[in-house]
Formats: sequence, structure tokens, C-alpha cells
Amino acid sequence: MKVTIFGTGYVGLVTGTCLAEMGNHVVCVDVDADKIAGLERGQIPIYEPGLEPMVKRNHAGGRLRFTTDPVAGIEHGETIFIAVGTPPDEDGSADLRYVLEVATTIGKHLDHYAVVVDKSTVPVGTADRVRATLGAALEARGAKVAFDVVSNPEFLKEGDAVNDCMRPDRIVIGSSSEKAVALLRKLYAPFNRNHERLVVMDERSAELTKYAANAMLATKISFMNEIANIAERVGADVEQVRLGIGSDPRIGFHFIYPGAGYGGSCFPKDVQALERTARAHDYTATLLGAVEAVNARQKHKLFDLIQRHFDGALQGRTIAVWGLAFKPNTDDMREAPSRYLMEALWEAGAKVRAFDPEAREETRRIYGERDDLVLCDSLQATLENADAVAVVTEWKAFRSPDFELLAKTLRERVLFDGRNLYDPEQVEAAGLAYYGIGRGRST
Ligand code: NAD
Repeated sequence: MKVTIFGTGYVGLVTGTCLAEMGNHVVCVDVDADKIAGLERGQIPIYEPGLEPMVKRNHAGGRLRFTTDPVAGIEHGETIFIAVGTPPDEDGSADLRYVLEVATTIGKHLDHYAVVVDKSTVPVGTADRVRATLGAALEARGAKVAFDVVSNPEFLKEGDAVNDCMRPDRIVIGSSSEKAVALLRKLYAPFNRNHERLVVMDERSAELTKYAANAMLATKISFMNEIANIAERVGADVEQVRLGIGSDPRIGFHFIYPGAGYGGSCFPKDVQALERTARAHDYTATLLGAVEAVNARQKHKLFDLIQRHFDGALQGRTIAVWGLAFKPNTDDMREAPSRYLMEALWEAGAKVRAFDPEAREETRRIYGERDDLVLCDSLQATLENADAVAVVTEWKAFRSPDFELLAKTLRERVLFDGRNLYDPEQVEAAGLAYYGIGRGRST
């Protein structure tokens, strides 16, 4: 089938590539000329496990093309996906500028029936706005072309996006058009073979489903961080509590890890946007406000622990920061807890020596060259002249460090474990002070 994708970011590039892998002819359109030129040369703009060979294979096979020309994309697609960014507006609601820009562009050039698919995360009612915007652009040129707009939110996780896209838990389709649903059913058939994954519903429910999913996951994380903060005050170990509650299948072990707060491009902005949507409909979403507030506080947790340990005297200290990406297996730094930590450390006059397996380039892009940041090539290199280690991202490579070496190398012999990766007794036995999240030790 002929597919066009507007927006070649985490969602657009992965979706386009997986659809091409299933034999479709996919054109990816982006306004970022450098990104498109790089993709044409085989340079993948993001780190996502398994993506690079798949892009190269399908590009070489002629099923995956990249262009900055929206007209070529619109001419090509019988299904046209909108997968552009929906960043937070000044007040936290979703900024639909890019989505509506694409709708206008499609309306200016569409000359055949197409199903326009909202894959970006968009507030309830956006499919109506896309339909109206696209319709107005068609009308302005006196064109009469039939089209449908469908909501098809994306649930992939960065760090495992290719797997999620190839083997989705569910494919939510919001539409009242039988024709559009039939076309998407056909497009998604290869991903829907061994059991039914398609959940067809009305547009508004589909739009809300995406926000509900992210808000639920963010709620689990903030809930557990709240418990961790109580645990450390009452002398309990939240890791024991986690094991105790996760074994209840109604609760489960997923997403109940306490830590340095959730980040990324989705949870923070989507919880905020849902809260603003509720407010716009005269409803105060008390729970969502609390989820955000707990997270905002949690992102400062590691810095607070460090500051308290050093009695506020951080001037001239050097902290080794392990992990920069907002989670493992990605290079995405949007809203990453590491950024809150580093910026607070710099503000307090400390220096950072940081290592991340994938996000160093992105960190360099964000912060440029600065005297108080050294981006190291290995964990070991971060230890040079460092006072302490702070673990921010739970990369697998960080799970079994040589604690004896840390104790020998660190000037202040202290480990701040922002992801509760280590056994405190083992760390302390090596001669280090240990701070975790909600573990009732050294806190
Ligand atoms: P991204 O920032 O990685 O990519 C967006 C791309 O859109 C950029 O390359 C940008 O240049 C391009 N773009 C902007 N305006 C354009 C236009 N007019 N025409 C063509 N391209 C244009 O964003 P992302 O992380 O892929 O997210 C896209 C959407 O999907 C967002 O709404 C996001 O909330 C949602 N989403 C993201 C994830 C995720 O894990 N990243 C998961 C599910 C849903």
C-alpha cells in the first residue's frame, strides 16, 4: 500500500520503517532538510535499537523514501499519517501548530481520496480541527476531494520502539468511517495476525485513550515515588515494599520503580495537557495535578541528597553523573532528570563528569562546550578527580560497577543511586556511603 508520513522523528521514522518492512511503499516527509539529507545518506538521526539496519534495508529496497517535498508525499499517499511533534504550549496544553500546518498543506495539494491519520498525541477534538482545517484549504482552492480523518494514537516506547511497532499490544483506531477503518485494517493486517489487536472506537475516545494510558503510567511512577518519600521518613525500604505490592497481580511489577522522576517527551507533557484539557472543560483533575507535583519534586531529589550530604558546600566539587538519557536505550534527553540534576549542580558551583552510552552527542548539542561539564567515554573516566557518583539512568552497563574501585577513586566515597540499582549493604561493605530513593539509609 502507499503510505506517507509527515514527521520523521521517533514515531514517524519508526512507523514508516516498520510499514515499509511489511512491504508497503512509504514516503517520509520532514521540514528538517538536514535530517532528510542525512537519512538519504543512511544516517539515522536518533538512537533506537534495531532501527538502523531496518531503515537501510528498506531504503535500499526502494520501499522507504525521504523527502522535504510535501507535494510529492501527498501525491503518493492513500494513507497519510501526521506524526509531527505536539510540544507543550506556554500554559502546558498541547501546541497543535505543526499538526494543523500539515492539515493545511494536505488540503492545498490533495487530489485523491485519502485517509489522514492523526498519529501524534493530540487533545480530544483535534480530529475535528484537522478535518475543518484540511476542508477549508480544499475549499479555498475550489477543490472537491473526499477524505477521512482518523485518530490512531501511537503507543511505542522509546528504547524498544521497533519491537513495539512490529508487535503492538493494541492498535487503537478512532473513526466512524467504515471505508477508513477498512483501509487501516488492511494496512495493519500484517501486525494483527495471531490475535485481534485492533480496537476500533469513536475518534474522541481514541484521542483520550492515549492520554489516559500515559497518565496512568505516570501516576504509577509518582505513586511509588510518594511511597518512597514516606518510606524514608518511617525507616522502611521501598524496594521491599515494591516486591510486596508488585506480587499482587492487580498491581503488577511494571512501572512501580521509585527513582529520580519521570522524564521524556511524553509523560510530562501529556499529563499536563490532559490536566489543561480537563480544566478547559471546567473540571479540576486533582489526581493529575498531584502526579505532576510529585514528579516535579522528585526530579530534585538527587540534588537534594547530594546537597545535604555536602552540607550545601558544592562549590568546587566534582560529581560523576552516570546516565544522561531520560531512560535506557535511547538518546532522548527531553525533560531528562539528568538535566535537572546537572543544572542544579552547576548553579551550586559544582562540576560534572558524565557518561551515557548513547546520549553524549545530544548532551553536547543541548549544552555546548562548557568548563563545568566533561563528557566522558567510559564510566571509569568519570571517576577522575570526582567526589561522588550519582546514577541517574538505569542502563544495564551500570548494574555491576566495581565498588572497590569507586571507594579507592572517589574523593568523598559516596554513591547516590537515583534508580535503586544496588544493594546498599554491598556498597557500604566496599567502604562507600550509599544514598538511594526511599531506602531509609543515609537519608
Ligand atoms: P519528534 O520531535 O522526534 O519528531 C517530530 C518531527 O516532525 C521532527 O522531525 C520535525 O522536523 C517534524 N515536523 C514538524 N513540522 C513538520 C511539518 N510541517 N511537516 C513535516 N514534518 C514536520 O517527535 P516524536 O517524539 O516522534 O513525537 C511525535 C508525536 O508522537 C508527538 O505528538 C508525541 O507526543 C507522539 N508520541 C511520541 C512517542 C515517543 O516515544 N516519542 C510515543 C508515542 C507518541
